[in-house]
Amino acid sequence: MITDRFLQGCRATLVGLTVLFAAASSQAATIIIVNADDPGFGFNDATPATPVGGNPGTTVGEQRMAVFQFVADYWGKRLRSDVPIQIVSFFPDLFCTSTQAVLGAAGAYNIFSDFPNAKRTGTWYPSALANKLAGVPLVTDPDPFVSADIIAYFNPNLGTPNCLARATFYLGLDGKAAANQIDFLTTVLHEVGHGLGFQTFTDGETGLQQPLDATDTVGLPSIWDHLIFDPQQRKNWEQMTNEERAASALVSRNLVWNGKNVARDAPRVLDRGTPELFVFGAGLADFYQIGLALFGPVFDKNTFLSAELVRWVDQTGGLNQACAALDANAAKAINGRVAVIDRGTCAFTVKVKNAQLAGAKAVIIADNALSTPPPALAGVDATITIPAVRVSLPDGLEIKAAIASVKKPRFAPFGVLLSNPLKLAGADYLNRVYLFSPNPYQGGSSISHYDTLATPNLLMEPFAEPNQAIAVTAPGDLTLELLHDIGW
Ligand SMILES: [Zn+2]
Repeated sequence: MITDRFLQGCRATLVGLTVLFAAASSQAATIIIVNADDPGFGFNDATPATPVGGNPGTTVGEQRMAVFQFVADYWGKRLRSDVPIQIVSFFPDLFCTSTQAVLGAAGAYNIFSDFPNAKRTGTWYPSALANKLAGVPLVTDPDPFVSADIIAYFNPNLGTPNCLARATFYLGLDGKAAANQIDFLTTVLHEVGHGLGFQTFTDGETGLQQPLDATDTVGLPSIWDHLIFDPQQRKNWEQMTNEERAASALVSRNLVWNGKNVARDAPRVLDRGTPELFVFGAGLADFYQIGLALFGPVFDKNTFLSAELVRWVDQTGGLNQACAALDANAAKAINGRVAVIDRGTCAFTVKVKNAQLAGAKAVIIADNALSTPPPALAGVDATITIPAVRVSLPDGLEIKAAIASVKKPRFAPFGVLLSNPLKLAGADYLNRVYLFSPNPYQGGSSISHYDTLATPNLLMEPFAEPNQAIAVTAPGDLTLELLHDIGW
């Protein structure tokens, strides 16, 4: 069974087609790059370039191809297959604004079920893996736009005024991108990871499984769906109804990858200790998900802070926003406690600095819009010395209600900020790594990535992160372990 769901809208003209073969050692997989760019574009961009970071190319196009070839060799050495893996790649215009851009996208070009040696029946497999298991190519058409295993495309416009103006792709092979650059090598490594099988073919937004044909209303699960486990529903995705899957996709830091290879190696890769907020008293005794501040002290295994929670009250206007400092008398209510402050009106750094000046030990920012997991608190202020975290809108309401329910002189609830040593950073108590399941749903990012909580950063997180290692397997990463779990 074949679908070409990833082909739509991204077919390129086959002008100047070149095919490059990766050097392959015995047992390793051969990865073939099909350059589908028009002359002068993308991989064929003749703009002169200075060799950089071990990349000898002298044009932008040559350097892009050298990076891709490096990635093809890198993945090829770490995979085993008797069937060459074909990747069709090109540089179309992708979504861009001056502050946001799609760096690239990739996926399986063909998917198959019920082929010879399939380990599970009635289950979709990505083409590269299906070919490996079958031991023969399942499509033999000489046209790569029919037989390709993976399609991968990348943004050619990065760094131009209307496309993430302040960032360009770094084309070196040494992982040494500057602060204003995005490493193309790790971007390609990531995208090829999707194409090899780091993705579900089920629509997480609707819960619909990929159908066999236009008349099929039920579809088949993906091999992924047997290994996505929802601890709240106590089901794998393939055991759920469409409605249950769609609901499952919206519960952040709940869905886990339930494969034995990832769980076995996670302790070698992820730091021990998950940043958490525990609140107890006034009827609460719960852990809350938090977003960490990008300013102030680093949250690490030494972080442990416990204090009574107090609602910040502005001296004028009666709001709880902390955009202005308190006088000495009003500051007494905050001193030595954890200030709970509403998001809005002014920068996070302003709020936290005002709380620090009032003597707060830490700050909890209560979000004013629904977004889980709670995003990081952005900002820069080197004078901030107290920790700050963000909680989600509903969690903030719950905590604020608990504080309000307490009549002095009884204690308000206490908050404990800690790095929970019983959990790896990015995994649950059983070392099962969290998948990215934000609310609202993020098409193209939800489900088919690891959660952003993972520390150090994993290759298959949804956003490019600085200092990502050039690695796909333990101890540097957990991408290959997941591919082993699905049958590689
Ligand atoms: Zn991705």
